[in-house]
Amino acid sequence: MAEETIFSKIIRREIPADILYQDELVTAFRDIFPKAPLHILIVPNHLIATANDVKASDELALGRMVTVAAKLAAEAGIAEDGYRLIMNCNSHGGQEVYHIHMHLLGGAPLGPMLS
Ligand code: 5GP
Repeated sequence: MAEETIFSKIIRREIPADILYQDELVTAFRDIFPKAPLHILIVPNHLIATANDVKASDELALGRMVTVAAKLAAEAGIAEDGYRLIMNCNSHGGQEVYHIHMHLLGGAPLGPMLS
């Protein structure tokens, strides 16, 4: 059984975060240490620790994470210029918080990811 992280407390609004969107499946909030002019985290409301733990029953929430990312990018006016969506998995992937999340990064040219 995965342990809750700080993201569960953010989702339940028990600790402060700049929440930009929330519905019955997902929550989106600004990253506390932004790595781009726009850096938003989109998370499922229920705890899934890593990409390895995603089940078929999670597919609706995972799909919603992408549609919410696109909506927030459009609202921020960066959809046409473009942006990056990233999900890190486990230590080699650089995952620090074990509640699956999608990074939405944009607002400036980000350069090639793999070089
Ligand atoms: P990961 O490396 O796990 O893919 O990314 C975790 C992200 O969560 C990091 O970009 C980090 O800045 C962000 N983060 C960690 N703790 C908090 C927090 O308490 N509040 C917010 N808003 N972001 C956090």
